[in-house]
Amino acid sequence: MAKNCKYIFVTGGVTSSLGKGIIAASLAKLLQSRGYSITIQKLDPYINIDPGTLNPYEHGECYVTDDGAETDLDLGHYERFLNVPTSQANNVTTGRIYQSVINKERRGEYLGKTVQVIPHITDEIKASIKKLGNTGEYDFVITEIGGTVGDIESLPYVEAVRQLNYELGKNNHLVIHLTLIPYLAASGELKTKPTQHSVKMLLEYGVQPDILVCRTEHKLGQDLKDKVARFCNVEAKAVIEAIDASTIYEVPILMLKEKLDHVVLEKLNMETDSIHNLTKWRDFLEKFQNPKQTVTIGLVGKYVELKDSYKSIAEAFIHAGAANEVKVDLKWIHSESINEKNVNEKLSKLSGILVAPGFGKRGIGGKVSAIKYARENDVPFLGICLGMQCAVIEFGRNVLKLEDVDSAEINTGAGNPVIDIMESQKSITEKGGTMRLGAYPCKLAEDSLSRQVYGEKNITERHRHRYEFNNDYTEQYKTAGMNLTGINPNSNLVEIIEIPNHPWFMGVQFHPEYKSTVANPHPLFVGFVKAAVTIKELIHS
Ligand code: GLN
Repeated sequence: MAKNCKYIFVTGGVTSSLGKGIIAASLAKLLQSRGYSITIQKLDPYINIDPGTLNPYEHGECYVTDDGAETDLDLGHYERFLNVPTSQANNVTTGRIYQSVINKERRGEYLGKTVQVIPHITDEIKASIKKLGNTGEYDFVITEIGGTVGDIESLPYVEAVRQLNYELGKNNHLVIHLTLIPYLAASGELKTKPTQHSVKMLLEYGVQPDILVCRTEHKLGQDLKDKVARFCNVEAKAVIEAIDASTIYEVPILMLKEKLDHVVLEKLNMETDSIHNLTKWRDFLEKFQNPKQTVTIGLVGKYVELKDSYKSIAEAFIHAGAANEVKVDLKWIHSESINEKNVNEKLSKLSGILVAPGFGKRGIGGKVSAIKYARENDVPFLGICLGMQCAVIEFGRNVLKLEDVDSAEINTGAGNPVIDIMESQKSITEKGGTMRLGAYPCKLAEDSLSRQVYGEKNITERHRHRYEFNNDYTEQYKTAGMNLTGINPNSNLVEIIEIPNHPWFMGVQFHPEYKSTVANPHPLFVGFVKAAVTIKELIHS
């Protein structure tokens, strides 16, 4: 039976980066643990159609869904918390909203009318919110509004929320506003004024928040909660403390203690007695917070200055670490800082090396040197996308000893383009959303490391690339000891390379990190961390 969906909106005030995505995902986790089905959507106020054309330095990692949407990294958090796949419908930008309205205008769908922000843009926003609810699959849709209330860009979204408050009817929606209660060290006080102002601003736009989630470095105390409640027209029990946590994975437990989901259900006039099933979550947290040992793994990439650029990889290591009951100490190594001379000294303390995905020339030399080091010194290696392509280049140069080996992405005129542009990409000129994106099947070879690690014959993984292993070199590589162990059954594209004569050496054309969740740590990361632990123990025994 189609579900009667309730809508929860999460807005942010005072400052950006308060963690709306984590609060939304934590609330979703608590509701899910009570047996509800739920999805989370992010509305982004920027004008790009999607973040696929953004440099990671601008907006962190670009996350990719099964259906091939290039999305905001918050969708990664939603999937990691809920273990439910998201899709294009879960991430909508202002660019996409406007594009859709403008296309309709050109088709004559508003013929005779002046097309305006209200009602046309707000109608489009509302439609993209209701699209998820109307599937009949969900008890709740949580919609996170990107940006901070008061930004020019987010105004139409807040207006859409205001309109929905009337349209959806009582008990069918609520608004959670996430704010900051700063601590003034000089006077030793927590200050509520920024929160009061932020709620006033929301009120000016016609939106009264039902619940305030207050980020804070110190406990709030009942007096302070009462004060915030009084000034902001919310009930005292609806003032929720969100104290800084040591890990994002603790936030659902903190929100449980603060009864966030209880207040939500009460306000929506729903049953509050249902029992939470958080056994798996607590089990993970217990292992994550009490590791038996530490293993050091190097992440070699060119965007390491901004940790958000490799968000899903870092989180996948957290899941895989907990699965192995170890702490993964991730060393972020700038690929441009590595060269043939310093590589030994730079990488000698590592028990595993991961070479990251990426685009363009910068830092390629360092990546190739790191891979040579891993291959020659039996250090467990995982190469992801560009990391896999660099492993193919390294092998071509140093084992096959071919001349002028490169990827066509780096050198279009390379004598031996062992990585070449995919046939399907040759005619493409537009940049946005045109890579090979999303989930594709892959068949694993018998007796391969990947088959053993996955424990399955057929897998599907998510992709984001334009270049591929050049199949003209298949025989040469196999003969010299690099096996092509994962192949797309339809296009024959090489998805996985391995060196069997090495303790653990794997390159994957896809992005396993996007599919790692708390409930399902990714087998490749679990296997890689396990191999790193084994090497570490061997060296120290
Ligand atoms: N730049 C490479 C390609 O387009 C690798 C992409 C990636 O690492 N995501 O094929």
